[in-house]
Amino acid sequence: MPEYEKVNILMVDDQPAKLLSYEVILSGLGENLIKANSGREALEHLLKTDIAIVLMDVSMPELDGFELAEIIHQHPRYQQTAIIFISAVYLTDSDQIKGYAHGAVDYISVPIIPELLRAKVSVFADLYRKTRQLARLNAELEQRVAERTADLQSVNEELTALNTELTRSNRELDDFAYIASHDLREPLRGIHNYSHFLMEDYGDKLDAEATEQLQTIVRLSQRMEALIDSLLHYSRIDRVEPIAVEVNLTDVMQDAMEMLKPRIDADNVQVRCPPVLPTVRGNSAQLTEVIVNLCSNAIKYNDKAEKWVEIGVCDVVVPGEPPVFFVRDNGIGIAPEYNDKIFEIFRRLHPQDKFGGGIGVGLTVVKKIIEHHGGKVWVESVVGNGTTFYFTLGEENTV
Ligand code: ADP
Repeated sequence: MPEYEKVNILMVDDQPAKLLSYEVILSGLGENLIKANSGREALEHLLKTDIAIVLMDVSMPELDGFELAEIIHQHPRYQQTAIIFISAVYLTDSDQIKGYAHGAVDYISVPIIPELLRAKVSVFADLYRKTRQLARLNAELEQRVAERTADLQSVNEELTALNTELTRSNRELDDFAYIASHDLREPLRGIHNYSHFLMEDYGDKLDAEATEQLQTIVRLSQRMEALIDSLLHYSRIDRVEPIAVEVNLTDVMQDAMEMLKPRIDADNVQVRCPPVLPTVRGNSAQLTEVIVNLCSNAIKYNDKAEKWVEIGVCDVVVPGEPPVFFVRDNGIGIAPEYNDKIFEIFRRLHPQDKFGGGIGVGLTVVKKIIEHHGGKVWVESVVGNGTTFYFTLGEENTV
């Protein structure tokens, strides 16, 4: 309802002269004025029209003002309808008026002061308009909330379907990688072995160039074997079940350090790690692999004379969030545009002859293991200053 829409005012009195006088008093308000000569006629109007205010004489023959008010307020449709009694008797302390406590009820005594009547009617008319407006806005809001909820639900359903599809196709891709890499190994072994035989049996008959080419074949087939092995390893990660065993990360750390000892000693790397790390749930071999991969990269991609690696748990604990572990180094750093790319399979940022080479699978494996444990891994780095890899484990893997 627009703000200035007129409201209906029903004036009820058995004396036409009085009705006329009310009309004169109220006509200046610009509302719709409806006249009724009796309680019954008033009810007929009420049934047909939306009435904002009923102005009525308390004492009328047949159906008096109080009886009519009783009927009006019993009906839910008229709950917003205000009633103004016109009475020759002083009604303020009357028990009768208290009976209408639920509806907007007022009275005006005779002789009527026109300004007072106009003011009372005007207040009730505005109240009615505002209540209606509020109800309409509420309904609109409810409608919008309902629409939004429905939208969200359908987006949610789509997302769930997409997720299921993604999981399925990821699984298929893993299966494919597993089968392909498995089957590719045999012919590759053949190429490698036959190249060797050729060198051994016919080495003296081959010139230097042919020998070098054969050596390249052997080298490339070895590299390809390494790639296939890592692909096979990668596709096996989430086949490992269950991962709900308690694992002491202090033990994991010791195992990892033992494996890395030759590298640590050779490069004289300072390793910093708290004496005790938390216990988590997971697969200890896989978690050891995460630490080994991150630490060996920390040592490998480091050009400083005094290299260090720090392993630990972040001090800042966000309530309800799992602990955040980190592996930090003072190495070469990673440019921000590669922060996501380094986790892609076979993605390397350096030529094969730099930083000891590699096949670009280490971080992809780390990511898959962490995700297999319900967690996340991410990197923060400053080129030239060092890199920190952070990771969490899922809530179910946090003890
Ligand atoms: P690889 O070490 O075999 O290349 P990774 O998947 O372990 O494979 O790493 C991918 C790339 O990310 C590396 O080639 C390297 O450029 C970069 N990288 C990984 N760890 C670090 C690190 N701690 N500091 C700097 N660069 C890193």
